[in-house]
Amino acid sequence: MPLLTNAIITFYCACTICCGVKKNKSLIGITASGTRAKQGQTIASGNRSIPLGTKVEWNGKVYIIEDRMAKKYNYDNSERFDVYLTSHEEARKGGILKQQKIKILK
Ligand SMILES: [Zn+2]
Repeated sequence: MPLLTNAIITFYCACTICCGVKKNKSLIGITASGTRAKQGQTIASGNRSIPLGTKVEWNGKVYIIEDRMAKKYNYDNSERFDVYLTSHEEARKGGILKQQKIKILK
């Protein structure tokens, strides 16, 4: 199983600052895979070659890639991931973590 050792981890919530304004309000908090984003489970990947639904392990916890990052981060060799949190304040405080280890579990 592939292990990324130079991944960048950031954090986001469902707010308009993190996700932009959604015309359809019922889509707020809904991930690219159609699930409701859940803290401790949902992670977004900037790497389009990793399918939605893939499980990854980071920092001793297993997350599911249920979401996609903004288009500017979407490229095939991206090692950037965005961890979903319910609180914008917590997401903001999380900052940008570099040289993170991410294990792709399938
Ligand atoms: Zn936010």
